[in-house]
Amino acid sequence: MNAPTRTDLARGTGVDVDRIRADFPILARPTSAGKRLVFLDTAASAQKPRQVIEAEARVYETEYANIHRGVYELSQKATAAYDKARSKVRALLNAASDREIVFVRNGTEAINLVAASWGRKNLKEGDQVILSEMEHHANIVPWQMLRDAIGIELVVIPITDTGELAWEAYEQAFTARTRLVAMTHVSNALGTIVPIREVTRVAHEHGVPVLVDGCQAVPHMPVDVQEIDADFYVFSGHKIYGPTGVGALYARESILKDMPPYQGGGDMIASVTFARTTYADIPQRFEAGTPNIAGTIALGAAIDYVTGLDRQALLRHELALRDYATERLSEINAVRIYGTAPEKAGVISFTIEGVHPHDVGTILDFEGIAVRAGHHCTQPVMDRFGIPATTRASFGIYNDFDDVDDLIRGIARVQEIFA
Ligand code: PLP
Repeated sequence: MNAPTRTDLARGTGVDVDRIRADFPILARPTSAGKRLVFLDTAASAQKPRQVIEAEARVYETEYANIHRGVYELSQKATAAYDKARSKVRALLNAASDREIVFVRNGTEAINLVAASWGRKNLKEGDQVILSEMEHHANIVPWQMLRDAIGIELVVIPITDTGELAWEAYEQAFTARTRLVAMTHVSNALGTIVPIREVTRVAHEHGVPVLVDGCQAVPHMPVDVQEIDADFYVFSGHKIYGPTGVGALYARESILKDMPPYQGGGDMIASVTFARTTYADIPQRFEAGTPNIAGTIALGAAIDYVTGLDRQALLRHELALRDYATERLSEINAVRIYGTAPEKAGVISFTIEGVHPHDVGTILDFEGIAVRAGHHCTQPVMDRFGIPATTRASFGIYNDFDDVDDLIRGIARVQEIFA
Protein backbone atom coordinates (compact mmCIF):
# COMPACT_ATOMS: atom_id res chain seq x y z
CA MET A 1 0.00 0.00 0.00
CA ASN A 2 1.28 3.48 -0.85
CA ALA A 3 2.07 5.90 1.95
CA PRO A 4 -0.76 8.38 2.48
CA THR A 5 -0.32 11.65 0.58
CA ARG A 6 -0.86 15.07 2.13
CA THR A 7 -4.27 15.25 0.47
CA ASP A 8 -5.21 11.92 2.04
CA LEU A 9 -4.13 13.25 5.41
CA ALA A 10 -6.21 16.39 4.97
CA ARG A 11 -9.23 14.38 3.84
CA GLY A 12 -8.80 11.96 6.70
CA THR A 13 -9.47 14.70 9.24
CA GLY A 14 -12.83 15.48 7.65
CA VAL A 15 -12.22 19.24 7.57
CA ASP A 16 -12.84 21.31 4.44
CA VAL A 17 -10.00 23.79 5.00
CA ASP A 18 -10.59 25.62 1.72
CA ARG A 19 -14.12 26.41 2.81
CA ILE A 20 -12.90 27.62 6.19
CA ARG A 21 -10.11 29.71 4.63
CA ALA A 22 -12.65 31.44 2.40
CA ASP A 23 -14.29 32.82 5.57
CA PHE A 24 -11.08 34.61 6.62
CA PRO A 25 -10.56 37.69 4.39
CA ILE A 26 -7.04 38.36 5.65
CA LEU A 27 -5.79 35.00 4.36
CA ALA A 28 -6.63 36.00 0.80
CA ARG A 29 -4.41 39.10 0.97
CA PRO A 30 -0.84 38.65 -0.22
CA THR A 31 1.92 39.98 2.03
CA SER A 32 3.62 43.23 1.00
CA ALA A 33 6.34 41.12 -0.61
CA GLY A 34 3.61 39.55 -2.76
CA LYS A 35 3.71 36.17 -1.02
CA ARG A 36 0.82 33.96 0.05
CA LEU A 37 0.25 34.62 3.76
CA VAL A 38 1.15 31.57 5.84
CA PHE A 39 -0.23 32.44 9.23
CA LEU A 40 1.30 30.26 11.94
CA ASP A 41 0.77 32.46 15.01
CA THR A 42 -2.73 31.54 16.11
CA ALA A 43 -1.54 30.80 19.66
CA ALA A 44 -0.76 34.51 20.02
CA SER A 45 -4.03 35.63 18.43
CA ALA A 46 -6.33 34.06 15.87
CA GLN A 47 -7.48 35.65 12.62
CA LYS A 48 -11.16 36.55 12.33
CA PRO A 49 -13.79 35.09 10.02
CA ARG A 50 -16.08 37.41 8.06
CA GLN A 51 -18.96 36.27 10.31
CA VAL A 52 -17.26 37.84 13.36
CA ILE A 53 -16.14 41.00 11.56
CA GLU A 54 -19.64 41.51 10.18
CA ALA A 55 -21.30 40.79 13.52
CA GLU A 56 -19.29 43.55 15.18
CA ALA A 57 -20.00 46.01 12.35
CA ARG A 58 -23.69 45.07 12.46
CA VAL A 59 -23.92 46.02 16.13
CA TYR A 60 -22.66 49.52 15.39
CA GLU A 61 -24.83 49.81 12.29
CA THR A 62 -28.09 48.46 13.65
CA GLU A 63 -28.34 47.86 17.39
CA TYR A 64 -25.76 49.90 19.22
CA ALA A 65 -26.47 51.70 22.49
CA ASN A 66 -25.21 51.36 26.03
CA ILE A 67 -26.60 48.32 27.79
CA HIS A 68 -28.51 47.80 31.04
CA ARG A 69 -29.44 51.49 31.21
CA GLY A 70 -31.78 52.58 28.47
CA VAL A 71 -35.52 52.11 28.40
CA TYR A 72 -35.49 52.69 24.64
CA GLU A 73 -35.49 50.00 21.97
CA LEU A 74 -31.86 50.20 20.85
CA SER A 75 -30.54 49.85 24.37
CA GLN A 76 -32.85 46.94 25.03
CA LYS A 77 -31.74 45.22 21.82
CA ALA A 78 -28.07 45.71 22.67
CA THR A 79 -28.68 44.43 26.21
CA ALA A 80 -30.47 41.34 24.91
CA ALA A 81 -27.64 40.61 22.45
CA TYR A 82 -25.02 41.10 25.16
CA ASP A 83 -26.86 38.77 27.53
CA LYS A 84 -27.23 36.23 24.72
CA ALA A 85 -23.44 36.25 24.29
CA ARG A 86 -23.17 35.27 27.95
CA SER A 87 -25.43 32.28 27.30
CA LYS A 88 -23.23 31.32 24.35
CA VAL A 89 -20.14 31.32 26.56
CA ARG A 90 -22.04 29.32 29.16
CA ALA A 91 -22.95 26.73 26.53
CA LEU A 92 -19.42 26.70 25.09
CA LEU A 93 -17.98 25.80 28.48
CA ASN A 94 -21.00 23.78 29.60
CA ALA A 95 -21.26 25.88 32.76
CA ALA A 96 -24.35 25.25 34.86
CA SER A 97 -25.66 28.82 34.72
CA ASP A 98 -25.16 32.18 33.00
CA ARG A 99 -24.57 33.58 36.50
CA GLU A 100 -21.20 31.81 36.49
CA ILE A 101 -19.88 33.75 33.45
CA VAL A 102 -18.17 37.12 33.95
CA PHE A 103 -17.06 39.16 30.94
CA VAL A 104 -13.60 40.65 31.23
CA ARG A 105 -11.05 42.14 28.81
CA ASN A 106 -9.05 38.92 28.37
CA GLY A 107 -7.68 35.87 30.18
CA THR A 108 -5.12 38.03 31.93
CA GLU A 109 -7.79 40.21 33.47
CA ALA A 110 -9.78 37.15 34.53
CA ILE A 111 -6.81 35.79 36.50
CA ASN A 112 -6.13 39.21 38.01
CA LEU A 113 -9.78 39.37 39.04
CA VAL A 114 -9.57 36.03 40.85
CA ALA A 115 -6.27 36.97 42.53
CA ALA A 116 -7.53 40.37 43.63
CA SER A 117 -11.04 39.37 44.68
CA TRP A 118 -11.01 35.71 45.75
CA GLY A 119 -7.32 35.82 46.66
CA ARG A 120 -7.45 38.84 48.92
CA LYS A 121 -10.55 37.55 50.65
CA ASN A 122 -9.46 33.94 51.13
CA LEU A 123 -5.66 33.97 51.38
CA LYS A 124 -3.40 35.12 54.16
CA GLU A 125 0.31 35.16 54.91
CA GLY A 126 1.89 31.72 54.61
CA ASP A 127 -0.90 30.24 52.47
CA GLN A 128 0.33 28.40 49.39
CA VAL A 129 -0.72 28.61 45.76
CA ILE A 130 0.48 25.82 43.46
CA LEU A 131 1.53 26.79 39.93
CA SER A 132 3.45 24.93 37.25
CA GLU A 133 6.73 25.85 35.63
CA MET A 134 4.99 26.13 32.26
CA GLU A 135 2.56 28.91 33.20
CA HIS A 136 2.15 31.97 31.00
CA HIS A 137 3.23 35.15 32.79
CA ALA A 138 -0.49 35.94 33.08
CA ASN A 139 -0.80 33.06 35.55
CA ILE A 140 2.38 33.92 37.46
CA VAL A 141 2.57 37.68 37.94
CA PRO A 142 -0.88 38.23 39.56
CA TRP A 143 0.05 35.63 42.19
CA GLN A 144 3.46 37.22 42.72
CA MET A 145 1.75 40.58 43.24
CA LEU A 146 -0.43 38.93 45.86
CA ARG A 147 2.65 37.32 47.41
CA ASP A 148 4.30 40.73 47.66
CA ALA A 149 1.15 42.30 49.08
CA ILE A 150 0.05 39.73 51.66
CA GLY A 151 2.86 37.17 51.94
CA ILE A 152 1.43 34.06 50.26
CA GLU A 153 3.91 31.44 49.02
CA LEU A 154 4.09 30.19 45.45
CA VAL A 155 4.85 26.49 45.02
CA VAL A 156 6.09 25.76 41.50
CA ILE A 157 5.71 22.25 40.10
CA PRO A 158 8.58 21.48 37.71
CA ILE A 159 8.15 20.17 34.20
CA THR A 160 9.95 17.20 32.70
CA ASP A 161 12.31 17.15 29.71
CA THR A 162 9.33 16.43 27.46
CA GLY A 163 7.49 19.45 28.88
CA GLU A 164 4.98 17.52 31.00
CA LEU A 165 3.90 18.31 34.52
CA ALA A 166 6.11 16.34 36.96
CA TRP A 167 3.18 14.34 38.26
CA GLU A 168 4.64 12.95 41.49
CA ALA A 169 5.92 16.38 42.44
CA TYR A 170 2.40 17.69 41.93
CA GLU A 171 0.79 14.99 44.05
CA GLN A 172 3.30 15.58 46.81
CA ALA A 173 3.10 19.38 46.75
CA PHE A 174 -0.05 19.62 48.87
CA THR A 175 0.32 20.71 52.48
CA ALA A 176 -2.07 21.90 55.16
CA ARG A 177 -1.40 25.42 53.86
CA THR A 178 -2.27 24.80 50.19
CA ARG A 179 -5.22 27.02 49.25
CA LEU A 180 -5.32 27.09 45.44
CA VAL A 181 -3.96 25.39 42.32
CA ALA A 182 -3.62 27.74 39.32
CA MET A 183 -2.64 25.84 36.21
CA THR A 184 -2.72 26.02 32.47
CA HIS A 185 -4.85 23.56 30.48
CA VAL A 186 -2.56 23.78 27.43
CA SER A 187 0.93 25.30 27.39
CA ASN A 188 1.31 28.12 24.87
CA ALA A 189 5.08 27.61 24.68
CA LEU A 190 5.30 23.81 24.52
CA GLY A 191 1.85 22.71 23.44
CA THR A 192 1.58 20.28 26.36
CA ILE A 193 -2.00 19.30 27.18
CA VAL A 194 -2.09 19.03 30.96
CA PRO A 195 -4.27 16.20 32.37
CA ILE A 196 -6.45 18.85 33.93
CA ARG A 197 -9.22 16.50 35.08
CA GLU A 198 -6.63 14.61 37.12
CA VAL A 199 -5.20 17.90 38.39
CA THR A 200 -8.60 18.95 39.75
CA ARG A 201 -9.27 15.46 41.17
CA VAL A 202 -6.07 15.50 43.23
CA ALA A 203 -6.59 19.10 44.35
CA HIS A 204 -10.18 18.43 45.39
CA GLU A 205 -9.10 15.40 47.42
CA HIS A 206 -7.16 17.96 49.45
CA GLY A 207 -10.13 20.35 49.51
CA VAL A 208 -8.26 22.82 47.30
CA PRO A 209 -9.98 24.73 44.45
CA VAL A 210 -8.44 24.95 40.98
CA LEU A 211 -8.15 27.84 38.54
CA VAL A 212 -7.60 26.63 34.99
CA ASP A 213 -6.01 28.91 32.40
CA GLY A 214 -7.86 27.78 29.30
CA CYS A 215 -6.53 30.43 26.90
CA GLN A 216 -4.92 27.80 24.65
CA ALA A 217 -7.53 25.08 25.16
CA VAL A 218 -10.91 26.69 24.46
CA PRO A 219 -10.01 27.69 20.88
CA HIS A 220 -8.87 24.20 19.93
CA MET A 221 -10.85 21.57 21.81
CA PRO A 222 -14.25 21.09 23.39
CA VAL A 223 -14.11 22.12 27.06
CA ASP A 224 -16.62 21.11 29.73
CA VAL A 225 -16.00 22.89 33.03
CA GLN A 226 -18.39 20.58 34.87
CA GLU A 227 -16.64 17.47 33.59
CA ILE A 228 -13.22 18.99 34.35
CA ASP A 229 -14.66 20.04 37.71
CA ALA A 230 -12.87 23.41 37.48
CA ASP A 231 -13.59 26.04 40.11
CA PHE A 232 -12.37 28.85 37.86
CA TYR A 233 -11.75 28.66 34.12
CA VAL A 234 -10.53 31.59 32.01
CA PHE A 235 -10.10 32.33 28.32
CA SER A 236 -9.58 35.19 25.86
CA GLY A 237 -12.00 35.90 23.00
CA HIS A 238 -9.32 36.91 20.50
CA LYS A 239 -7.74 33.46 20.53
CA ILE A 240 -11.03 31.76 19.61
CA TYR A 241 -11.46 33.78 16.39
CA GLY A 242 -13.31 36.56 18.25
CA PRO A 243 -12.43 40.23 18.74
CA THR A 244 -9.76 41.62 21.02
CA GLY A 245 -10.79 43.24 24.29
CA VAL A 246 -13.17 40.57 25.54
CA GLY A 247 -12.67 37.37 27.46
CA ALA A 248 -14.49 35.39 30.09
CA LEU A 249 -14.11 34.08 33.59
CA TYR A 250 -16.10 31.03 34.60
CA ALA A 251 -16.41 30.62 38.35
CA ARG A 252 -18.48 28.05 40.21
CA GLU A 253 -21.57 29.87 41.48
CA SER A 254 -21.03 28.84 45.11
CA ILE A 255 -17.60 30.51 44.98
CA LEU A 256 -18.44 33.54 42.83
CA LYS A 257 -21.36 34.63 44.97
CA ASP A 258 -19.08 35.03 47.98
CA MET A 259 -16.44 37.04 46.13
CA PRO A 260 -16.17 40.80 46.68
CA PRO A 261 -16.13 43.15 43.67
CA TYR A 262 -12.93 43.60 41.73
CA GLN A 263 -13.57 47.13 40.47
CA GLY A 264 -16.15 49.66 41.60
CA GLY A 265 -18.32 51.93 39.47
CA GLY A 266 -21.46 51.94 37.39
CA ASP A 267 -23.44 48.79 36.62
CA MET A 268 -22.03 46.78 39.54
CA ILE A 269 -24.11 48.31 42.32
CA ALA A 270 -27.55 47.77 43.82
CA SER A 271 -27.63 51.18 45.56
CA VAL A 272 -25.20 53.98 46.35
CA THR A 273 -25.23 56.68 49.01
CA PHE A 274 -22.17 58.48 50.30
CA ALA A 275 -22.54 56.49 53.47
CA ARG A 276 -22.83 53.05 51.91
CA THR A 277 -22.95 51.08 48.67
CA THR A 278 -24.55 47.72 48.16
CA TYR A 279 -23.50 45.56 45.26
CA ALA A 280 -25.35 43.94 42.39
CA ASP A 281 -25.81 40.20 42.19
CA ILE A 282 -23.41 37.99 40.24
CA PRO A 283 -22.16 38.29 37.55
CA GLN A 284 -22.91 42.04 37.19
CA ARG A 285 -21.04 42.70 40.44
CA PHE A 286 -17.81 42.02 38.53
CA GLU A 287 -18.60 44.05 35.41
CA ALA A 288 -18.08 47.65 36.46
CA GLY A 289 -18.42 50.33 33.79
CA THR A 290 -19.36 50.13 30.13
CA PRO A 291 -18.04 46.86 28.74
CA ASN A 292 -16.88 45.99 25.23
CA ILE A 293 -20.49 45.70 24.04
CA ALA A 294 -19.97 45.15 20.31
CA GLY A 295 -16.91 42.96 20.93
CA THR A 296 -18.81 40.76 23.35
CA ILE A 297 -21.68 40.30 20.91
CA ALA A 298 -19.10 39.48 18.21
CA LEU A 299 -17.51 36.95 20.58
CA GLY A 300 -20.94 35.30 20.55
CA ALA A 301 -20.67 35.20 16.74
CA ALA A 302 -17.21 33.62 17.01
CA ILE A 303 -18.62 30.95 19.31
CA ASP A 304 -21.46 30.31 16.84
CA TYR A 305 -18.85 30.03 14.11
CA VAL A 306 -16.63 27.43 15.78
CA THR A 307 -19.46 25.44 17.30
CA GLY A 308 -21.14 25.39 13.89
CA LEU A 309 -18.17 23.35 12.68
CA ASP A 310 -17.31 19.83 13.79
CA ARG A 311 -15.00 20.63 16.70
CA GLN A 312 -13.71 17.07 17.05
CA ALA A 313 -12.79 17.09 13.37
CA LEU A 314 -11.08 20.49 13.75
CA LEU A 315 -9.01 19.10 16.61
CA ARG A 316 -8.11 16.05 14.53
CA HIS A 317 -7.08 18.36 11.73
CA GLU A 318 -4.85 20.52 13.95
CA LEU A 319 -3.26 17.41 15.41
CA ALA A 320 -2.63 16.02 11.92
CA LEU A 321 -0.87 19.29 11.06
CA ARG A 322 1.12 19.02 14.28
CA ASP A 323 2.21 15.47 13.40
CA TYR A 324 3.10 16.33 9.83
CA ALA A 325 5.08 19.43 10.90
CA THR A 326 6.85 17.50 13.65
CA GLU A 327 7.80 14.79 11.20
CA ARG A 328 9.12 17.25 8.61
CA LEU A 329 10.98 19.35 11.19
CA SER A 330 12.54 16.23 12.71
CA GLU A 331 14.11 15.46 9.33
CA ILE A 332 16.19 18.65 9.66
CA ASN A 333 19.29 17.91 11.75
CA ALA A 334 19.79 21.45 12.99
CA VAL A 335 16.23 21.71 14.34
CA ARG A 336 15.42 20.94 17.94
CA ILE A 337 11.82 20.80 19.11
CA TYR A 338 10.93 21.84 22.68
CA GLY A 339 7.82 20.16 24.06
CA THR A 340 7.44 16.55 23.05
CA ALA A 341 4.63 15.43 25.35
CA PRO A 342 2.48 12.66 23.86
CA GLU A 343 -0.61 14.77 24.64
CA LYS A 344 0.17 17.93 22.77
CA ALA A 345 -1.77 20.64 20.91
CA GLY A 346 -0.93 22.25 17.56
CA VAL A 347 1.95 24.30 18.91
CA ILE A 348 5.54 23.61 17.88
CA SER A 349 8.42 25.46 19.53
CA PHE A 350 11.81 24.93 17.99
CA THR A 351 15.31 26.28 17.58
CA ILE A 352 17.68 26.03 14.63
CA GLU A 353 21.28 25.48 15.64
CA GLY A 354 23.42 28.56 15.06
CA VAL A 355 20.52 30.91 14.26
CA HIS A 356 18.78 33.18 16.76
CA PRO A 357 15.00 32.63 16.80
CA HIS A 358 14.43 36.31 16.00
CA ASP A 359 16.48 35.92 12.82
CA VAL A 360 14.46 32.81 11.97
CA GLY A 361 11.25 34.80 12.44
CA THR A 362 12.51 37.70 10.34
CA ILE A 363 13.64 35.55 7.42
CA LEU A 364 10.41 33.54 7.50
CA ASP A 365 8.53 36.83 7.41
CA PHE A 366 10.26 37.72 4.11
CA GLU A 367 8.81 34.45 2.82
CA GLY A 368 5.30 35.40 3.92
CA ILE A 369 5.37 33.10 6.95
CA ALA A 370 4.18 34.58 10.25
CA VAL A 371 5.60 32.76 13.27
CA ARG A 372 6.38 33.99 16.75
CA ALA A 373 9.94 34.29 18.04
CA GLY A 374 10.73 35.01 21.66
CA HIS A 375 9.99 33.71 25.12
CA HIS A 376 6.22 33.57 24.50
CA CYS A 377 5.54 35.18 27.92
CA THR A 378 6.91 32.02 29.51
CA GLN A 379 10.41 32.99 30.60
CA PRO A 380 10.55 30.21 33.23
CA VAL A 381 10.04 27.66 30.42
CA MET A 382 12.96 29.16 28.51
CA ASP A 383 15.08 29.03 31.71
CA ARG A 384 14.05 25.39 32.23
CA PHE A 385 15.49 24.48 28.84
CA GLY A 386 18.44 26.89 29.10
CA ILE A 387 17.53 28.93 26.03
CA PRO A 388 16.63 32.60 25.59
CA ALA A 389 13.87 32.05 23.04
CA THR A 390 12.31 29.71 20.50
CA THR A 391 10.57 30.07 17.18
CA ARG A 392 6.97 28.91 17.50
CA ALA A 393 4.60 27.74 14.81
CA SER A 394 1.03 27.33 16.00
CA PHE A 395 -1.97 26.12 14.05
CA GLY A 396 -5.54 27.24 13.72
CA ILE A 397 -8.57 25.92 11.87
CA TYR A 398 -7.52 27.64 8.63
CA ASN A 399 -4.07 26.11 8.32
CA ASP A 400 -3.40 23.41 5.78
CA PHE A 401 -0.61 21.06 4.83
CA ASP A 402 0.74 23.58 2.29
CA ASP A 403 1.40 25.93 5.20
CA VAL A 404 3.64 23.29 6.77
CA ASP A 405 5.46 22.72 3.47
CA ASP A 406 6.01 26.48 3.16
CA LEU A 407 7.39 26.56 6.70
CA ILE A 408 9.84 23.78 5.86
CA ARG A 409 10.88 25.59 2.66
CA GLY A 410 11.30 28.79 4.70
CA ILE A 411 13.56 26.99 7.16
CA ALA A 412 15.68 25.72 4.28
CA ARG A 413 16.01 29.36 3.18
CA VAL A 414 17.09 30.35 6.72
CA GLN A 415 19.73 27.62 6.63
CA GLU A 416 20.94 28.74 3.21
CA ILE A 417 21.38 32.30 4.45
CA PHE A 418 23.21 31.19 7.59
CA ALA A 419 25.28 28.47 5.91
N1 PLP B 1 -2.49 32.11 29.22
C1 PLP B 1 -2.00 31.49 28.14
C2 PLP B 1 -1.71 30.02 28.22
C3 PLP B 1 -1.75 32.20 26.98
O1 PLP B 1 -1.26 31.59 25.90
C4 PLP B 1 -2.04 33.58 26.95
C5 PLP B 1 -1.73 34.39 25.75
O2 PLP B 1 -0.89 34.04 24.96
C6 PLP B 1 -2.56 34.18 28.10
C7 PLP B 1 -2.77 33.41 29.21
C8 PLP B 1 -2.90 35.62 28.14
O3 PLP B 1 -3.86 35.92 27.20
P1 PLP B 1 -4.31 37.44 26.98
O4 PLP B 1 -3.08 38.18 26.56
O5 PLP B 1 -5.33 37.36 25.91
O6 PLP B 1 -4.85 37.91 28.28
